[in-house]
Amino acid sequence: MNPFQYIRPSRAKAAIEALTKDPKARFIAGGTNLIDLMKHGVMAPEKLVDVNLLPYKKIEKKGNGIRIGALVSNKAVAEDKLVLEKFPLLSQALLAGASAQLRNMATVGGNIMQRTRCYYFYDTALPCNKREPGTGCGALEGIHDMHAIFGFSDNCIAVHPSDMAVALAALDATVVVAGPKRERQIPFVDFHRLPGNTPEQDTNLQKDELIIAVDIPESPFAKHAHYLKVRERASYAFALVSVAAALDISGNNIRDARLAMGGVAHKPWRLFEAEKALVGKPASQQTFQQAAEIAMRGAKAFEHNAYKLELAPRSLVQALKTAAGIS
Ligand code: SF4
Repeated sequence: MNPFQYIRPSRAKAAIEALTKDPKARFIAGGTNLIDLMKHGVMAPEKLVDVNLLPYKKIEKKGNGIRIGALVSNKAVAEDKLVLEKFPLLSQALLAGASAQLRNMATVGGNIMQRTRCYYFYDTALPCNKREPGTGCGALEGIHDMHAIFGFSDNCIAVHPSDMAVALAALDATVVVAGPKRERQIPFVDFHRLPGNTPEQDTNLQKDELIIAVDIPESPFAKHAHYLKVRERASYAFALVSVAAALDISGNNIRDARLAMGGVAHKPWRLFEAEKALVGKPASQQTFQQAAEIAMRGAKAFEHNAYKLELAPRSLVQALKTAAGIS
């Protein structure tokens, strides 16, 4: 690991200023991903700005929705009464991620900012446009069983690893960030980027902006929500495919729907067209299969991840059935 400076400011202004002055500085909270990346030599910040003294550690009501501070641990969010009552989808997604030890340490802000687990990104002996722009994409010609089927480019076919982010994308969350001049809100679906020609940029966050909270608006989906994660082991494994499904059902009629998939793209993959196809239809296997067909339009696989073309729609149908209470 390279030598680095370490500071622990107690005010957000000082933390943000440290990043403004030093482009090679990075924020750190739980450190569950960044420290790994530093040990592997994938990232080498010259300064770590520890934000743990900042006051973003509460979960509170905001209107009829909630605001979750960026420094709340993944465990605390998953077990929070308000979250369980209003947004069980979020709790399910968090509990599907990582391990109990990691959930204790990992924060909401850090979870959103975690980086891909593409093997080539972590191995500094191999080419990777995300780690070192212009070197090529090792996964494209190599092993790519975990990789994207939507939204990839010739420069990068990696997927975003977070479970929590898939639920937040489905729940129309907003990321609240503070910069040197102002605060701003970024809709969750616009927070992460597709790789295009700049796969080194995971998000639309400016370098000296700090995530301070996530807002989730009120929604009618608490009764019919399910997070399904398909993975190689029962725990401590990243999603091959995951689905966040949330339905508002009256009688047997679907009034509204939210759907997002994980493990399939460089960002949480919201399925707007499939959502529209569900509205006004009966909650049934047939309706869900039609939505899954729509969801898969535009999907394209590579040699080793072709299984996702079948796994993704099946997972989608199963998640919707579970959310609707259909066996
Ligand atoms: Fe790097 Fe992306 Fe290619 Fe993986 S898929 S090797 S992260 S450029």
